[in-house]
Amino acid sequence: MRAVIVEQPGVVRVDDVPEPDPGPKDVVVRVGACGICGTDIHIIDGEFPPTQYPIVPGHEFGGTVVAVGEQVVEVEPGDRVGVDPTLNCGECYFCQRGRGNLCERWNGIGVGSHPGGFAECVAVPERSVYPIPASMDFRTAALIEPVSCVVHGFHVLNPQVGETYLIYGAGPMGLQNAQLARFNGASVVAILDINPSRQEIARSFGFEVVGASLDDVRHVAPRGFDNVIEATGRTKVAELAIDAVIRRGKLLLFGVCPPGEKAGYDAFKIYNEEISIFGSMAVLNSYGPAIDVIAAGAVDTEKMVTHTLPLDRFHDAVELFRQGAGLKIQIDPSA
Ligand SMILES: [Zn+2]
Ligand SMILES: [Zn+2]
Repeated sequence: MRAVIVEQPGVVRVDDVPEPDPGPKDVVVRVGACGICGTDIHIIDGEFPPTQYPIVPGHEFGGTVVAVGEQVVEVEPGDRVGVDPTLNCGECYFCQRGRGNLCERWNGIGVGSHPGGFAECVAVPERSVYPIPASMDFRTAALIEPVSCVVHGFHVLNPQVGETYLIYGAGPMGLQNAQLARFNGASVVAILDINPSRQEIARSFGFEVVGASLDDVRHVAPRGFDNVIEATGRTKVAELAIDAVIRRGKLLLFGVCPPGEKAGYDAFKIYNEEISIFGSMAVLNSYGPAIDVIAAGAVDTEKMVTHTLPLDRFHDAVELFRQGAGLKIQIDPSA
């Protein structure tokens, strides 16, 4: 079968590899669609420390079960599934306390040492697969993982119905955060992006309060926003975003900023205005809820997926991603 292999940082090829054999508790999934995300680019560039090379990347995918190991009980060949890429150990201090996303031996399908979804087929543990509704296509199934990161962010942030939101960044993650906010009973959802074409995309999702800087949107929440979500992954933005938070409001650092960079805050302001700053890392008990909110129409999946390329054009897909083209770029290994 064909698969993308990142041999070492900077060395990527699409090649023939052996079909995977399921272990006793594994299922083999024929991949129907797999999305590209910033983490894949970091893996290709050697900037994601947990990755062990060589690796087949790809952690945002769904497909059809084609084989199961002898101890598999819940799924059978023919089932359509999404795959939660998280592989936490279950035994460490954090896993035992229900914080598997912070596992001390954290691993992930397509990101750590386990082969991922940029392949025709992949073997994954049975506990990682979730049945999807018959009405859900695989392009949509490949959005469950990024949406499940957003759902985890909302679990951390714990916003209330009727509150105001400001989202920094109108890329795929920013727009998914914005759509979840709307779905979650927001009174106002404002979006900032310095890129005019991304602003236009945000408007096409029905968001009317869109701008390039805080001054463009301040009029909809003159005292500040209840929930400010940083989804650009830029440390400078994470720093400036504090200026948008209302007294007693919350700032969620959702974007992945480069490690080691520092954001400076006025400590008195945090104290005096009772501001809370949260972090949200990957997926925790949020993959199932993500399936449910997508099935309920929280996310416009038609608009989210702008490019679908066959496996053999993986390099072109990466190039499109690096150029910031469209929104979600997916690979369809069956094409
Ligand atoms: Zn991702
Ligand atoms: Zn663990």
